[in-house]
Amino acid sequence: MSNEINPLYSNLRGLTDSEVSKSRQEHGENTLTPPKRTPLWKLYLDKYKDPIIKILLVAAVISLALACINGEFIESVGIILAIVLATTIGFWFEMDAAKKFNVLTALGEESPVKVRRDGKVVEVARKDIVVGDVVIIEVGDEIPADGTLIESTDLQIDESSLTGEPIITKHADPAKNDTEATYASSKVLRSTMVMNGRGTYQVTEVGDATEIGKVSRASTEITAVKTPLNLQLDKLAKLISKFGIGISVAAFIIFLTRDIVLDSEGIWASTDYLRMAETVLQYFMMAVTLIVMAVPEGMPMAVTLSLALNMRRMLKNNNLVRKLHACETMGAVTVICTDKTGTLTQNKMQVADMKQYDADDALFRSAIALNTTAHLDEEGGKGIGNPTEVALLLWLEKNGVDYRALRKDEDIEAQLPFSTERKYMATIGKIGGKRILMVKGAPEIVASFCDITPEARQEIGDRLRGYQNQAMRTLAFAYRVLADGEQADMTAVAAGPKLTFQAVTAISDPIRLDVPDAVKQCVSAGINVKIVTGDTSATAIEIARQIGIWNAETPAEAQITGPDFAALSDDEAYQRVAKLRVMSRARPTDKQRLVNLLQKRGEVVAVTGDGTNDAPALNHAHVGLSLGSGTSVAKEASDMTLLDDSFGSIVNAVMWGRSLYRNIQRFLYFQLIVNVTALLLVLGGSVIGTELPLTVTQILWVNLIMDTFAALALASLPPSREVMKDKPRKQSDFIITRGMAQGIIIIGLAFFAVLFAFLIHCNQSAGDLHVHELSIFFTTFVMLQFWNLFNAKSFGSNHSAFHAFTHDNGLLLVLAIILGGQWIIVTFGGKMFRTDPLSLQEWLVIIAATSPVMWIGEIWRCIKRVINK
Ligand code: ATP
Repeated sequence: MSNEINPLYSNLRGLTDSEVSKSRQEHGENTLTPPKRTPLWKLYLDKYKDPIIKILLVAAVISLALACINGEFIESVGIILAIVLATTIGFWFEMDAAKKFNVLTALGEESPVKVRRDGKVVEVARKDIVVGDVVIIEVGDEIPADGTLIESTDLQIDESSLTGEPIITKHADPAKNDTEATYASSKVLRSTMVMNGRGTYQVTEVGDATEIGKVSRASTEITAVKTPLNLQLDKLAKLISKFGIGISVAAFIIFLTRDIVLDSEGIWASTDYLRMAETVLQYFMMAVTLIVMAVPEGMPMAVTLSLALNMRRMLKNNNLVRKLHACETMGAVTVICTDKTGTLTQNKMQVADMKQYDADDALFRSAIALNTTAHLDEEGGKGIGNPTEVALLLWLEKNGVDYRALRKDEDIEAQLPFSTERKYMATIGKIGGKRILMVKGAPEIVASFCDITPEARQEIGDRLRGYQNQAMRTLAFAYRVLADGEQADMTAVAAGPKLTFQAVTAISDPIRLDVPDAVKQCVSAGINVKIVTGDTSATAIEIARQIGIWNAETPAEAQITGPDFAALSDDEAYQRVAKLRVMSRARPTDKQRLVNLLQKRGEVVAVTGDGTNDAPALNHAHVGLSLGSGTSVAKEASDMTLLDDSFGSIVNAVMWGRSLYRNIQRFLYFQLIVNVTALLLVLGGSVIGTELPLTVTQILWVNLIMDTFAALALASLPPSREVMKDKPRKQSDFIITRGMAQGIIIIGLAFFAVLFAFLIHCNQSAGDLHVHELSIFFTTFVMLQFWNLFNAKSFGSNHSAFHAFTHDNGLLLVLAIILGGQWIIVTFGGKMFRTDPLSLQEWLVIIAATSPVMWIGEIWRCIKRVINK
């Protein structure tokens, strides 16, 4: 383990501002041209590929041809127009949703990269990297652009995104080039990941000129990804379709047979084949239209729309969704395993106390300045890198010490960065002409490397407990002077000679103010919160107490350390995880085991992680949550990124997930009632022997309302905190609950009964009166659904339908469209829709007479509110 240097490079100052702009002009920006998308018109035509739509269109065209002979083609034209209109509206919504997904790629370009510019270390967005930049990389970073290593320490890179190689060792030293490898060992490539070590490299290619830029990638539309809910709904849609097709075929046979048997117009006894064909076609078209209506093509759209909206709203709330399923799975989560630092705490680390045990002040200061991977931004006083180390550098600065003067890169001979497994970091460097091995890390680890008297050990122990009981993070420092030429193995300090114990420090990091409240919400939502931290048990328990998951009565078994947990047998661990609230001194493997065991217990687990080694746990969990400040590797492995690191954002994501699920349920509730009513009506109509109760064009309008418009109205309902009072649903639960199914059947049957009675009445009238009454019938049908939309909105809640009504923009718009659309159709529809204008009085009567659908719902909800109180 030592530094490798590429002799070709000597200037490490990096580019000046003017050099940066010059390079950008010459070589361009570091962005990839997005892959070509399928052209819009092709996507649009795809929408007509649906076999049922095709059949309907063909039938409509044939009927148009037949109708032209007798001059009554207006209805056929109406049908064709209605199909085109419905398809176009559906397409438009889908495109709109797809646009909302695009944020994901844009955000990656903004991720920060550490570069050296004009002698200073600064962070710039990935897209702002230019050819010639000197980039600093360390464990967990994603390489922002192609380049050649200047200097490296134990650098290992995951090149699987490019060459399929999961681990490749890279060398700055050209002498160590591996000739077998696809790319030179000194070459690092955009979009590969640093899995180990650190290094500095100079950028040689940016943007499309990089290797990954050259690989032409197929356009992957994120909307194509099917989430578990999608899959469940697909199954449901198939079931409903089968049912609808059965009824349609039955209606077709009954209508046609009756027509032939009765033969009231004497067609079937004659040789008028044209009329016969027309009649068959008419019934056929009705049957196909019924199928169009029965097939819930709006269902996938409702999900897509909800997911797209959720994703965008979540982003506003600092949750970046990487895998779509996370949106909905978050709603089913039963356990959240959370990190401490940054998620529960503010990550504003500050040295609260520093106690030195070694007299050499200057050595200690140099050790802090050298044994670190962090930097301070010269202008802002802001830190770059590990927050603990930044806190230490800031402490030096506060004490009037310029760490830059103490640290020259040439002085660092070798470095072992901090890792959560080892819990210490080490550096070999030159201080005052001597070679020194410097170690800092968790106090018990560092102390085990040192010779300490029992009295001193006692004093240190007491002091540390004091800090930890105040929820502070503790750290210890030690050193050893190395003999000339002595090779010290930094990964095995314990095996070498004893070190001198130098100091302990306490770093405060107060909890986020919103966390106790967010935790309370989780508890009332039936979600268990567990802290998994690398810190000591005393610190972790104090944090647990502050956020409200630990009190005086909590049994001791609710806490365990990582090593103790690892020592438990699988059975013991399986029992233990149920009671666990705090896991301290945890390593990534412990976290992963915890996640697996919880899943075995049937829990739906969300887990946070920021480090490279958290990737397996993030992958295994139902929802892996990476932190915005975490490494690229962790982000890549996660399903969602908490951009602000905050626990509060997790709770928000749960709320969004649950609301999404509920909105889909509302949509299904509404749509299935329309389906049941319409199918029964047509079937009933065929039995009692009226003409078609609803014409093809009318059914198409109803279909537009219940599929497209309902998806828009209900899928876009804003989330509500109310969902956090329920217990989590089981992931295996069917989306249509028992209560829902009962509601759909009862209300569907009630609508059918009312309308069917009306239909029998209409049947007794004749001539113009007949069309007029059928128009009233059609309008009544639509208005019943109109009012039921209010009930659908309140489904799953006891609130009045008018609760927060002004926020439901989509719903208001859809209500207006239904009412306006129906008026236009009835008033001007004429032959195309088989309608006759209604008088104002008739309109008012229909609206008033159908409104009890909502009023009864309101009364029912009011009763439930009173009972619940
Ligand atoms: P969490 O896992 O909740 O984020 P954590 O950040 O405290 O908790 P680790 O980062 O694994 O967990 O830290 C474990 C211990 O290692 C700390 O308590 C501290 O003593 C020590 N430590 C943390 N950061 C460093 C560092 N950069 N250098 C040396 N030691 C460190």
